[in-house]
Amino acid sequence: MKDIVLSCEAITKTFGSVTALNKTNLEIPSGEILAILGPSGCGKSTLLRSIAGFEHIDGGNIKINDEIVSSESNFIPAEKRKIGMVFQDYALFPHLTVHGNVSFGIQISSRSEKDALVEKLLRLVGLEGMDARYPHELSGGQQQRVAVARTLAANPITVLLDEPFSNLDATMRTEIRRTVREALLDRGVSAIIVTHDREEAFTIADRVAVMKDGVIEQIDTPETMYRSPVSKFVASMTGSADFLNGQIVSDRAVTELGKFQWVTSMDDVSEGQVVELLVRPDDFLVLPNPKGIYKVISREYRGDAMILTVELKSGFVIHCRQGPYSDLPVGSVVDLIPSRAAPFVAF
Ligand code: ADP
Ligand code: MG
Repeated sequence: MKDIVLSCEAITKTFGSVTALNKTNLEIPSGEILAILGPSGCGKSTLLRSIAGFEHIDGGNIKINDEIVSSESNFIPAEKRKIGMVFQDYALFPHLTVHGNVSFGIQISSRSEKDALVEKLLRLVGLEGMDARYPHELSGGQQQRVAVARTLAANPITVLLDEPFSNLDATMRTEIRRTVREALLDRGVSAIIVTHDREEAFTIADRVAVMKDGVIEQIDTPETMYRSPVSKFVASMTGSADFLNGQIVSDRAVTELGKFQWVTSMDDVSEGQVVELLVRPDDFLVLPNPKGIYKVISREYRGDAMILTVELKSGFVIHCRQGPYSDLPVGSVVDLIPSRAAPFVAF
């Protein structure tokens, strides 16, 4: 078991009549990168701000390395928590060079050691040789790299990143999140990154937490989140999701697409109960068959995939992913062949 560097135990935070955090629980082991995924207004920033010490909580407690930093009766100020924070707007010092920005928080007196650390951090975030530039001479992505290097320079216990890549374009984001993940792993520092972008959460984090209305609904590895979501909400937050009606008949769920094995995290499921099975875009193969009973009603080209909307007999539709060269036209009559080996998740 790795050490827990950060824990939140049943923390609550209200703003007037709004409950931003509702008995939220969280534990971060040493070196772990956790992504928090959730819609706007669900309490992500409030959670980070409470951990950082920018908000007082109303109940529960926050511990950093086993020391209580926030509770109803304790409050250690932000500057004493050894927590680094990276925001959406890079917030660099405009009058300092890249070197000046990064070395700002380093508590080492030896000039040469300090310079060596700055150089190492700039290399880690992919900004080698840019130390003499000023923030206005950098692109948004480069400025955010400086902000990350500056945060790491202060040797924090944990780094909190609040939608750090939201202002960057898609190509830039893919690259910077790889670099930032590698930099965090290299420094062995744990991190929480808030995002509303599923792909970002999955690619940067070791575990993902899905948050709704101030509560973390599930926290697991990206694979487990995608394959075994505990709720329809988590299923929809973690990828494209359709829900197919079925009825439980012993170990099978009977649906209009056939009988399937099922699993659930619901407390009790009784014989004959009507459930919804989660269908992901890769769960059924679409094969043209003039005698088939399903119909392609639309195509969405994604570049690296073609998403077909297939209408079932009942009028219900599911979305199926095909390769980018799929040439099945709208109107095609097709069969749907289950390609899923694992049982379907029932809600
Ligand atoms: P997120 O970051 O997930 O979008 P926030 O944590 O910013 O959500 O906000 C959670 C809820 O708390 C929202 O309903 C928001 O309006 C409310 N809230 C956040 N900060 C304040 C504040 N300083 N005053 C009043 N309400 C706030
Ligand atoms: Mg926010």
